[in-house]
Amino acid sequence: MKILVTGAAGFIGSHYVRTMLDGGYPGYEHTSVTVLDLLTYAGNRDNLPGHDPRLTFVQGDICDLPLLLDLLPGHDAVVHFAAESHVDRSLDSAAEFMRTNVTGTQTLLEACRLSGVSRVVHVSTDEVYGSIETGAWDEDCPLLPNSPYSASKAAGDLVARSYWRSYGLDLSITRCSNNYGPYQHVEKLIPHFTTRLLRGETVPLYGDGGNVREWLHVDDHCRAVHLVLTGGRAGEIYNVGGGNDYTNRQITDLLLELCGASPDLVRRAPDRKAHDLRYAIDDTKIREELGYAPRVPFERGLAETVEWYRLRTDRWAAAGELTVPGLALAGSGVA
Ligand code: NAD
Repeated sequence: MKILVTGAAGFIGSHYVRTMLDGGYPGYEHTSVTVLDLLTYAGNRDNLPGHDPRLTFVQGDICDLPLLLDLLPGHDAVVHFAAESHVDRSLDSAAEFMRTNVTGTQTLLEACRLSGVSRVVHVSTDEVYGSIETGAWDEDCPLLPNSPYSASKAAGDLVARSYWRSYGLDLSITRCSNNYGPYQHVEKLIPHFTTRLLRGETVPLYGDGGNVREWLHVDDHCRAVHLVLTGGRAGEIYNVGGGNDYTNRQITDLLLELCGASPDLVRRAPDRKAHDLRYAIDDTKIREELGYAPRVPFERGLAETVEWYRLRTDRWAAAGELTVPGLALAGSGVA
């Protein structure tokens, strides 16, 4: 068995590949993995093992059709994580999001079709549904994205659906809530606040901090992606949630406590444009159909994540200083 994983030098894809290489997915202990990643500012080759006989790393672009047509033959499946993923960056320069998340997805799927790849999982996000005041989205809810990031992901989902409908590509889509865990880029809310608080620096909280997100440990997300890869039905969408709803203010308070930092370090930042108030996922389908259930309790997972950043200061240096164009200080990016 040979799988190609796109974007696996990033946060979630690298967790998926490390888990597979570590034997974390029963039956896949001998699977060979090819990683295709452009190594943008968000990708880091060190997120993956340096030498593993089962791992091949290729630095390249999912928009590069000749490269994909050269690379894909011989692969049984593709798991597609590669994306531009930060909402704040999308507000400042949307074009790159459309290029990678829409054109890149289409190019990858075209190459899968032409190369005879027999199974594809397209990894998407709950943000495609927009914002919801009460209740939770199921897979039939309309797509009402509000940021260029979520619009580009929604467009990618529709392209993916069309490759199933038009060409019969055996493809499923996952839509997951916010992830947290080790190896996440320090531009995102939890690592951003954690690393700043550990250094005794102020953290910028958007608006009144009342925006609600549903959090899921990256390990649970990756297990769900793998369940969909192995048991999901073609043309189907699977929501993946954690049931851990917290406002950004509550997350900030938990991080203050875990980092041993003073509440005085929190400062108000002007709210993000069109900031979605609340996300909530109904993931009954993947639970009933594929037996999915999250395993990592949020408070334990969060404490372990903070500990990882406390110990792995080398990772912050690798990420460098944050430079999100157009923002005075990188905000509490929740993507
Ligand atoms: P990330 O930004 O950490 O990683 C993205 C990776 O994609 C990077 O390694 C980058 O180098 C690579 N990449 C970007 N453009 C590329 C291109 N043109 N060709 C090849 N590689 C390219 O993102 P993440 O947080 O790991 O998210 C992975 C996927 O999961 C994304 O599709 C995202 O939309 C989705 N998702 C993320 C979350 C979350 O909370 N982070 C939640 C739900 C869904």
